[in-house]
Amino acid sequence: MVLVKLRKDILRGLLLQVGGARIVFDSKPLGTDCIQLISHAHLDHIESLAQKNVFMSVETASILSSMGRRGYWKTLRRREKVILRNDVEISNEPSGHVLGSSQFIVDVNGDRIVYTGDLNTYENLIHGFAEPIPTDILIIESTYGSPVYKFPVREKIYADIVKWIMDVLREGSIPAFKVYSLGKSQEVISLVNVFLDVPVVAGLSVSRISRKYREHGVRLGYIPVNTREGLEVVKSGEFVYVSSSRDRLPIDRRIKWAVASGWAVRFRYPNYDKAFPLSGHSDYYGLIDYIEHSNPKKIYTVYGYAEEFARNLKRRGFDAEPIIRINK
Ligand SMILES: [Zn+2]
Repeated sequence: MVLVKLRKDILRGLLLQVGGARIVFDSKPLGTDCIQLISHAHLDHIESLAQKNVFMSVETASILSSMGRRGYWKTLRRREKVILRNDVEISNEPSGHVLGSSQFIVDVNGDRIVYTGDLNTYENLIHGFAEPIPTDILIIESTYGSPVYKFPVREKIYADIVKWIMDVLREGSIPAFKVYSLGKSQEVISLVNVFLDVPVVAGLSVSRISRKYREHGVRLGYIPVNTREGLEVVKSGEFVYVSSSRDRLPIDRRIKWAVASGWAVRFRYPNYDKAFPLSGHSDYYGLIDYIEHSNPKKIYTVYGYAEEFARNLKRRGFDAEPIIRINK
């Protein structure tokens, strides 16, 4: 087994030292000699963009550019392999979380380490789900790594959202979703496109990122709110509004706001009219299923319920350890 040193550094860095290489996942740079791997374009995963030796998927780079981010990034196509010094090989597979989100595979001298990044193991309208990757060492996210997080099947969530939209429109109000501009927005837009005959008006940042989805072949029908057509639809008719903020719109009708988040399984959103447990992450049971198929010898849990998840995995017979604090 390869010697692996993994730690959560003082700067929130997730650092892997293997085969003479220093690899940092999704966090602040820990020295200029490190290889920086960015799993996807959500803000809490892109702290090392200004560094050298930054690797990410083609789609992630494209989304970051649309957000005005710049850097000398090295892009990886799906399954493209990059060989670093010391025979360390890096490749990626989709993680099913947002467009371009990657699981990173590090192979060195016949041993394998997989970092999942944010992970979604369930089929959805936009892109494929994360396939479990057989590995020796697994670094897995645990945002919802507690058994209290069991999401309804996606078909049920989709059906509930469609019914709510129809009910709100029927009473003469406008259904609106305040959701992340990357990931959740596009899933809601696609849902409306597929199941309803109602136009979608999209807020500014949602429109900007959705355009990137289209460029990468995802079919999405929406009208940017800041266009003449968007304003006409807002003023004249029925529509569904999708935005990352609770914008005011120039209409007399009541706007009913919904939120879509995995936390809705457990928490209430009193300032919203409705909350749906639609998540870009796996629930606890999806994570367990992933691990059983990946069958690693050693598991490190990161983010969210890292400690509780590692405890539960140990009870199931896995060698699991959370990475939650500074181990200098
Ligand atoms: Zn994310």
